[in-house]
Amino acid sequence: MMSPTSPQLAAAKPEHTALCELHEIYQDFAGQGGRPLHVLENIELEIRANEVTALLGPSGCGKSTLLRIISGLLQPTRGSMLYRGKPLAGLNPGAAMVFQSFALFPWMTVTQNVQCVLHAAGVPRSEAFERARRVIRTVGLAVFENSFPREISGGMKQRVGLARALSLDPEILLMDEPFSQVDALTAESLRAEVIDLWESDQRNPSAIVLVSHDIKEVVYMADRIVVLSANPGRIQTVIENTLPRPRDMRSTEFLSLLDQLHDTITGQEMPDVPPPLTPAPAIEPIPWARPGEIIGLLEYLDARGGKMEIFHIAADIHREFGQTISVVTAAEQLGFVDTPKRMVVLAPEGQRFVKATMPERQRLWRDRLLQLGLFRAIHSALDRQGPEGIDRDFVLDVIVLHLPQEDFEKMFTTLVQWVRFGHLWSYDEDAQRFTLPEARDTASSASL
Ligand code: ADP
Ligand code: MG
Repeated sequence: MMSPTSPQLAAAKPEHTALCELHEIYQDFAGQGGRPLHVLENIELEIRANEVTALLGPSGCGKSTLLRIISGLLQPTRGSMLYRGKPLAGLNPGAAMVFQSFALFPWMTVTQNVQCVLHAAGVPRSEAFERARRVIRTVGLAVFENSFPREISGGMKQRVGLARALSLDPEILLMDEPFSQVDALTAESLRAEVIDLWESDQRNPSAIVLVSHDIKEVVYMADRIVVLSANPGRIQTVIENTLPRPRDMRSTEFLSLLDQLHDTITGQEMPDVPPPLTPAPAIEPIPWARPGEIIGLLEYLDARGGKMEIFHIAADIHREFGQTISVVTAAEQLGFVDTPKRMVVLAPEGQRFVKATMPERQRLWRDRLLQLGLFRAIHSALDRQGPEGIDRDFVLDVIVLHLPQEDFEKMFTTLVQWVRFGHLWSYDEDAQRFTLPEARDTASSASL
């Protein structure tokens, strides 16, 4: 029988050399009112070859920030970050990030979405095409090479995201909550596939850094679990996970490690950052209706005792019946009217709105928008993103991704009109960017 300490085996065993070393890392951002926001404090961390490291912690504790520092996208406020022993200047040459499926370009095919990343990395066109095709096959998307993002499922989009990162043949694969947008079953198989790719010795990635707030995912994937606490983000503890692979989520060992981790995390102080907006309502299409039309309807109803038959409304306001339906549907989504049978009835919220002053109307409108899944999803992305905001393509992607049947240009136009009326977000037409309005203080975000 072979002894586990036999010299051959010891030599063949992959070593955990440090690829990245983070030393005394601090990260501050400009917080509200210009006060510094201490996001990361004194982070000591190694990213090692042949190892899956998970960063686990509550929302807002700085996981994504830490991942951006490792990728070189963000220069930390203080501390040193070494890649293969040398201080990192600019992007980390050994790392590639799997972005969430949002980041796909809706107007490009699956292959083109991978190729564009290779072009950006300076890979010649002739080679980029071959490489893109190869990696698309690796992630099981061969049949969908020429499909557009809106034609494929969320899980497949996530595979495209993975293909993009893998096409760069990175030594370190960085994944930020990569499976949070896909259903449980798809997530399970994607996790196993990523581990398969990582396990094959001859091939990159050698190291994976996974950001997650899913304990089960972390126990399944990681060799080392770095538990972070929030405000500021510190390393609370590091747990070595030596469960043999392939791991069985139903085994006693797995469940006991899960329990242990659970205790560690629930014992930790809760963050005082705004809680995530849960439960998230489903993302539904918003009808083609301008705020002026919706308000017109509410005032019309108010002037007529608060209710009217829908056919009458169409005739009275001289609108095509289809457009009247849109306006009524919009008002109903916003909670301003009810529609029993063919009647349209002003709801209590609608009555309040009609009676309110302009600033109050805007506040009411804003509150109603945040009850809608589409606005909430984008709002929480804006919250996470900070002052740089998010761009038009991100919003278009959210629409295309969740509402593939809808006319996304039209819905985008409506969305901009609605957020402008309520001053929910600012939209800069030239820069094509959305940001949270600065002037508004915590008073309004507290009402979320
Ligand atoms: P996590 O990924 O753990 O949820 P993040 O790293 O995204 O947390 O964010 C940690 C904190 O830093 C949050 O309070 C977030 O609002 C803030 N933050 C992140 N990026 C920026 C930025 N560019 N500007 C200002 N604040 C930021
Ligand atoms: Mg994050």
